[in-house]
Amino acid sequence: MKPTHIEHIGIAVENIEKAIEFYENTFGLKCYAIEEVKDQKVKTAFFMVGQTKIELLESTDPEGPIGKFIEKKGEGIHHIAFAVKGIEEKLPELEKKGVRLIDANPRKGAEGLDIAFLHPKSTFGVLTEICENKNNK
Ligand code: ZN
Repeated sequence: MKPTHIEHIGIAVENIEKAIEFYENTFGLKCYAIEEVKDQKVKTAFFMVGQTKIELLESTDPEGPIGKFIEKKGEGIHHIAFAVKGIEEKLPELEKKGVRLIDANPRKGAEGLDIAFLHPKSTFGVLTEICENKNNK
């Protein structure tokens, strides 16, 4: 189970338009995609930084995971995502090592990635995602 790189860092924001403006004007990064993930009740915006992305997350529903996160903790880093190869095999592998899985099976995330979340209780408080890009294979 060795990730190939940090695929993205997810950041919960209250206002994605303002946050996009900040990343573009302050860091000179270009937002290359905005996508709504209905299933997760979020709007996402992506910036490339080297081979890692910044994923801004704005809730589209106060009852969604990002809405609840912001209510509890405020804006900030929401999760870190490791790119892996063979995500289906990695999940049972992690479970065997005692990691609590939020997703026992991969599901579709933004950008068509196969994603699965690990419970922060077993990852030192960091919501951790593993993901695999099977689109451009
Ligand atoms: Zn993510």
